[in-house]
Amino acid sequence: MFLPRSVKVKRTPDEDRSCTAKKHKLSSGGSLLEETTEFQDCKSVGTETSASTYNLSETVQEHTEPAAADLGVANTPLGKDNQNTDEDGSLEEPIKSFSKSQRWAEPGEPVCVVCGRYGEYICDKTDEDVCSLECKAKHLLQTQAKEKQLRSDQCTDSQAEAHLLNTPYFYKDHSFILGLQDEQVENLKLQLGIAVQGQQVPRPIVEFEHCGFPETLNNNLKNSGYEVPTPIQMQMIPVGLLGRDILASADTGSGKTAAFLLPVIMKVLKETETPSALILAPTRELAIQIERQAKELMAGLPNMRTVLLVGGLPLPPQLHRLKQSVKVIIATPGRLLEILKQSSVQLHSIKIVVVDEDKKLFKPPVLVFVDCKLGADLLSDAVHKITGLQCTAMHSEKSQVERTDILQGLLQEKYEVIVSTGVLGRGLDLVNVKLVVNFDMPSTMDEYVHQVGRAGRLGHSGTAITFINNNSKKLFWDVVKRVKPTGTILPPQLLNSPYLHDQKRREQQRLKQLQSSLVTGDNIMDIIKKHNKNNSQR
Ligand code: AMP
Repeated sequence: MFLPRSVKVKRTPDEDRSCTAKKHKLSSGGSLLEETTEFQDCKSVGTETSASTYNLSETVQEHTEPAAADLGVANTPLGKDNQNTDEDGSLEEPIKSFSKSQRWAEPGEPVCVVCGRYGEYICDKTDEDVCSLECKAKHLLQTQAKEKQLRSDQCTDSQAEAHLLNTPYFYKDHSFILGLQDEQVENLKLQLGIAVQGQQVPRPIVEFEHCGFPETLNNNLKNSGYEVPTPIQMQMIPVGLLGRDILASADTGSGKTAAFLLPVIMKVLKETETPSALILAPTRELAIQIERQAKELMAGLPNMRTVLLVGGLPLPPQLHRLKQSVKVIIATPGRLLEILKQSSVQLHSIKIVVVDEDKKLFKPPVLVFVDCKLGADLLSDAVHKITGLQCTAMHSEKSQVERTDILQGLLQEKYEVIVSTGVLGRGLDLVNVKLVVNFDMPSTMDEYVHQVGRAGRLGHSGTAITFINNNSKKLFWDVVKRVKPTGTILPPQLLNSPYLHDQKRREQQRLKQLQSSLVTGDNIMDIIKKHNKNNSQR
């Protein structure tokens, strides 16, 4: 029995029945191979065995021959298939040979991509819906023609690219950028936090496409997930592409690496002398990251080798690679000096030097208060594990040496978070903190005021975040009284707490009592009369 594997039976609720029918029919008459593949065709479209795939390609070949495509194939094996099916008297419909013998699709049913009739089958090559073998053959011819066109387009693209790679590159403002008004550009810079100094600084780009990079580089950017430039890239790339000297500063993680790598890549692309660029990084880790990013961006560009010269890794392979006509060196200063001292390597061909300082902007540490030593150790570990921030704990079990070390570490920006018990927090008075977190609410208002006061000292503003729960319920009303006047929005759970209302009511009662016992102008006569009356009774 011939089974046209080039077309797979589409699965719909009705066809589940036809799957069963086919299997039944096959198990009574077909070969084992046919049974298996046919069952797979019905059961899970697109996951055939290699045997069935082989058959499929055979059939596809026949169908894609233009002369035989429409009729030849359908006439020969299918005629037989039709016959068999008829003879068997099975419930199964034979696969339609011609488009005209297929019905039109009902609303919601799949539609043949060629003729628009009911797309009863799925083409195994393209996963598109087709109605018959005739349309499948046409569909494959169309697909082949499209692929051919695409290939020739790509060929033209690569010729254009080769031309682009061979002609000198000069950066000029893209027409879109030129079309912007001065105040639009200033507004954009203001909104993006771009501040520049210097003479005739070019306008920032808004898209990578504004740079006129070769297509390979544009694709590499897309493949790395760089859809739009970050603000530092918007401003730095055009300046770098103009070959100007730049001193740039932006936060860690703001895309600085690509901001200097892209101009470096464009500059060294047509350089014949090697090495042409040197990128210095303070740490091995950073150098490795830079090289990884450089390789991603340089992929597919001709003669763009890099070498990593960093300490902590064996020197000979690095030296060997350095001598292989590398375009870009990425190095840590120590290892570079070591190599320069030892070997005959000359760096006079270097035209571009980038120093990636990576000095973190000073970020004041966060001070977190907890109520016990164990809490401090546990929370410090947890915060470090989850956020990667440099954390330490401060409590009474720390020796004096450790305490001094922590304090020094804080001042030298070694720690980003310190978790401390309340009393020890007083030792940290010197530290400039912007954020205090009362992870455990202290047991007295005095302590609370002292702790939140660590944030924003010396006239600077700061923030305090306080976690409260029923353990500190006796302080609810005091906290509200203290915090509300600062304009802080308090959580409704606190404001609606019955404890708070109880405390407020009691306070008001106490006040009333106090007021009634106080001597004022209004009640002085009443007090005297009451006093006289008591005396005369005695
Ligand atoms: P960096 O500040 O250079 O260390 O970059 C931080 C991260 O942002 C790195 O993982 C980069 O791959 C990524 N990155 C840089 N520029 C872009 C961009 N334009 N779009 C998306 N991701 C970027």
